[in-house]
Amino acid sequence: LDVIRAVEPRVADAIGGELADQRESLKLIASENYASPAVLLAMGNWLSDKYAEGTVGRRFYAGCRNVDTVEALAAEHARELFGAEHAYVQPHSGIDANLTAFWAVLSQRVESPALQRAGVRNVNDLTEQDWAELRRELGNQRMLGMSLDTGGHLTHGFRPNISGKMFDQRSYGTDPVTGLVDYDAVRAAAREFRPLILVAGYSAYPRLVNFRLMREIADEVGATLMVDMAHFAGLVAGKVLTGDFDPVAHAQIVTTTTHKSLRGPRGGMVLCDSELAEHVDRGCPLVLGGPLSHVMAAKAVAFAEARRPEFRQYAQQVVDNAQALAEGLLRRGGKLVTGGTDNHLVLADVTGYGLTGRQAEAALLDSGVVTNRNSVPQDPNGAWYTSGVRIGTPALTTRGLGLAEMDEIADLIDTVLRNTAPAEGKGGSPSKAQYRLDDAVRDAVAKRASEL
Ligand code: PLP
Repeated sequence: LDVIRAVEPRVADAIGGELADQRESLKLIASENYASPAVLLAMGNWLSDKYAEGTVGRRFYAGCRNVDTVEALAAEHARELFGAEHAYVQPHSGIDANLTAFWAVLSQRVESPALQRAGVRNVNDLTEQDWAELRRELGNQRMLGMSLDTGGHLTHGFRPNISGKMFDQRSYGTDPVTGLVDYDAVRAAAREFRPLILVAGYSAYPRLVNFRLMREIADEVGATLMVDMAHFAGLVAGKVLTGDFDPVAHAQIVTTTTHKSLRGPRGGMVLCDSELAEHVDRGCPLVLGGPLSHVMAAKAVAFAEARRPEFRQYAQQVVDNAQALAEGLLRRGGKLVTGGTDNHLVLADVTGYGLTGRQAEAALLDSGVVTNRNSVPQDPNGAWYTSGVRIGTPALTTRGLGLAEMDEIADLIDTVLRNTAPAEGKGGSPSKAQYRLDDAVRDAVAKRASEL
């Protein structure tokens, strides 16, 4: 930090501050983790300086042999780890990975036949008229994904995201009574809508998805099944999700982030069947420029770590811990979406405490317990204030916390929420954001949170 401090002390302070925050609080954000020192160091080095547009062995820049090495290693580890035919490790983030995947499916299913019809092999040879026709075809494509308020991600066709603009989109939800994915309803929607892409995967669904059934539905309507496993990739790598629940075994294309339960550097990746490989590899220049060579090095290190036996223990413990946390909350009278969890996250409905998700999130943060507010299905408080908090166990599991600590954390969460009340906003108006938290409770919980 001294090297950074000599240039811009405020950045050094912020980095040090982040370390202190992470040490003193309980990190329960379901999409966060602690990357290992090896992963962090693989990112902070001279590979960051290198340009390497293109793919391994086929670059638009000279002098890429070291980048070739790290990219090839990251892809090889990823293929072995997940049993995938092809891995594309360049996407800078989950959103980039999804965009790359959407376009790969479009170009395989729409663009390639259109090129054939036009009698050309390369997009650069298309005439203006060919392009106009192609754009018309692309614009007619449909995507069916999980709705945002039942746990889907905004890249799965949500209107403000480019996926909702690229595609004519429809979503499937969960059963209003059980909160579970209703495969018959997904099948009915797919039969009626006939999407080109069926998207499975989620950011805030606390149960497992049967990808074998999803593939069956996709095949029946001629769709490509794409699974976004960003949240649960660590559970797939750690062989907790196998058989029907292993996305790589069933989907033609799978995307992920590398920094959540997978515990790598911040980034994205696409895995796919070999027929889609050449389309996926066109992520650059389609939506990517030069790959982040240093991050690909860190991906290679993280995937190598995930191939070790200890990673399987970690992945199983993530789920055991989430279940212990869920049981702890339920035992104290908490209400959980779907009544529990089968994965790394719990979605608590906090309306029973008389709070919005925003009030609960803020009161917990004040007490050193870091979660994030999240909509619950058919949320009466909307996507900004929400009625829930999402609580995930990957980060604390990485720190070595186990079942006993999870029960204690459930107690801390319950204690904070019981001692928080909604407060009035400006001029005495009702507010969904303001809250009052008992000071003594806040201090006691914060003290314990920093000790755990
Ligand atoms: N897909 C899912 C399911 C996610 O939960 C997220 C992030 O929250 C993303 C994609 C986007 O990842 P990124 O933030 O790296 O773009």
